Amino acid sequence: MESLEDLLAVQVLDTRIDQLRHQKKTLPERQELLDQAAALKQATAATDDCAARLKDLRRSQKEAEDHASLLEDKATEVNGVLYDGSVSSHKELEALQQEHQQLKQNQSQFEDQALEFMELAEPVEEELELLKAASAAIVELIADLEAQITVAVAEIEVQLDEQLVQRESAQAGIAPELLSLYEGLRSQQGGVAVARLAGARCEGCHLEIPSGELDAIRKAPADEAVTCPECTRLLVR
Ligand SMILES: [Zn+2]
Repeated sequence: MESLEDLLAVQVLDTRIDQLRHQKKTLPERQELLDQAAALKQATAATDDCAARLKDLRRSQKEAEDHASLLEDKATEVNGVLYDGSVSSHKELEALQQEHQQLKQNQSQFEDQALEFMELAEPVEEELELLKAASAAIVELIADLEAQITVAVAEIEVQLDEQLVQRESAQAGIAPELLSLYEGLRSQQGGVAVARLAGARCEGCHLEIPSGELDAIRKAPADEAVTCPECTRLLVR
């Protein structure tokens, strides 16, 4: 049956078209892109967390420095009173001296504290730089992947267009009823509606057709559309 051979040619093209469409949808770069997007989300969260920790340390450092500076001003003021001759009582002078000493001690404690916060901030600052670099690398990778996907999709589309043109001319001589039977079967049978009969085997479902049914298929008129009793696909004899 001539038109079934033609239909088989259409089937080959349709299978190729289905494969190309599947390939376009499931490019490995797409999964890689999803993975990298998730990695970027994580890296961004880690960067934000690190930046927040650094900000806290810098704030604590600044607070300690401000405290130290206030105490220094106060100590200078007390020192001024000590030596400006306004106080003559020995007891009062001694009290002022003690206050000055205490203020200097406290100032030095806050200065030590500020230094500790500064030292704690140093490795966090380095960590932040590394995290920012890691995020930037992922952003670059994502841009690369997107470019690769664009190229791959364009290549597949060129092939698809070619196959679609071929498919259009391949179906030209086929009766419309046969084509619609084919389309209906294709959607039921996972894309393959017509198969060759190879010996007793249907190449659609790869099952042997029982001899009684096989006889009937072989004896059917050449222009009759016969189907596989196992999978219902059209058979090309
Ligand atoms: Zn079959």
